[in-house]
Amino acid sequence: MRVGVPKEIKNHEYRVGLTPPSVAELVAAGHEVVVETKAGDGIDFSDQDYVEAGARIVPTAAEVFAQSDMIVKVKEPQAQEIALLEPRHLLFTYLHLAPDPEQAAGLIKSGATCIAYETVTARDGSLPLLKPMSEVAGRMSVQVGAHYLEKEQGGRGVLLGGVPGVAPAKVAILGGGVSGVNAAQMAVGMRADVTIYDINNARLAELDMFFSNQIKTAFASKAAVAAAVRNAHLVIGAVLVPGAAAPKLVTREMVKTMKRGSVMVDIAIDQGGCFETSHATTHQDPVFEVDGVIHYCVANMPGAVARTSAFALNNATLPFALKLANLGAEAAMRADQHLANGLNVMRGEIRHKAVAEALGLEY
Ligand code: NAD
Repeated sequence: MRVGVPKEIKNHEYRVGLTPPSVAELVAAGHEVVVETKAGDGIDFSDQDYVEAGARIVPTAAEVFAQSDMIVKVKEPQAQEIALLEPRHLLFTYLHLAPDPEQAAGLIKSGATCIAYETVTARDGSLPLLKPMSEVAGRMSVQVGAHYLEKEQGGRGVLLGGVPGVAPAKVAILGGGVSGVNAAQMAVGMRADVTIYDINNARLAELDMFFSNQIKTAFASKAAVAAAVRNAHLVIGAVLVPGAAAPKLVTREMVKTMKRGSVMVDIAIDQGGCFETSHATTHQDPVFEVDGVIHYCVANMPGAVARTSAFALNNATLPFALKLANLGAEAAMRADQHLANGLNVMRGEIRHKAVAEALGLEY
């Protein structure tokens, strides 16, 4: 198959659909790969790196689309990219169509086959192409929290791990899923005093086994969360109720009880946030203060570590990209129901039930 990789054009998006090692895998499997010039520039993948991996470099996105059957991207296609899509194209990328009727209309009109990373499933019901970004955000949340706890950043002036003779900082992680566990791993590594709160008792039991005595676990009752927030130096919001807005676990009243200069990182902000005082921020202006408490609520945290994120995303997407290239879209989806669950748009119709319902369209 002819596989194309355009340069991402969404504001401050430096990731790229295929890294040079992924290109090499596709080329080794007998496919042709076309990459737009400077597609990986932002994360130090040069055109030469792509050429060495076996790709051909073309000067524009229009050339990529014209010379490819499958387009592999990161972010949802922008208007000028949708205009380049034709019925023969297979688009494989994050789409997030449910809240985006304009994009949905464009993809329907294009006639292209569009498979969304975020609705591809795994055997255990999880979403394997979202997981790597939760891992990145979870790990980053502790690094960010440690930074904003520094005095110069307006923080309390507390070192997460303490030192001999001085107690470590208290880190409360709300939600012990993918991002929560990754946050805990980093916080434990920095020798902080870590507690994970969740409402899923089976999950708490798993975490207890996994971390042994390195962390504490607690059921996330309202009272437990209130006490955790009051005592913590760093609160990390990592809850998810699939398909729903994040529950507001931390109220404005609870924030008032916190120590001045403590830090809250709301990873769940992309689902509306799990602190009542949260609103989405950007990497340009990541934090704001409420009652002397620093809030970090960046909705696309992985963008800050775009190189790591691009590799992590490729590790998850490459097996599916190879399957699509080897078998073609229809046979690949027949062979793999989890990949088929990624199908959002085909031949001018929405083909994903939940997406169609969210858009108020027929399925
Ligand atoms: P996950 O499903 O793996 O884990 C969520 C956990 O929250 C589960 O263990 C669940 O039991 C728990 N939970 C649900 N309701 C709860 C409640 N009321 N109290 C306590 N725990 C509760 O989810 P995840 O992959 O870790 O993702 C977490 C959030 O992070 C999602 O909203 C996701 O979209 C978001 N995310 C944000 C970024 C970013 O850049 N900001 C990046 C990646 C993921």
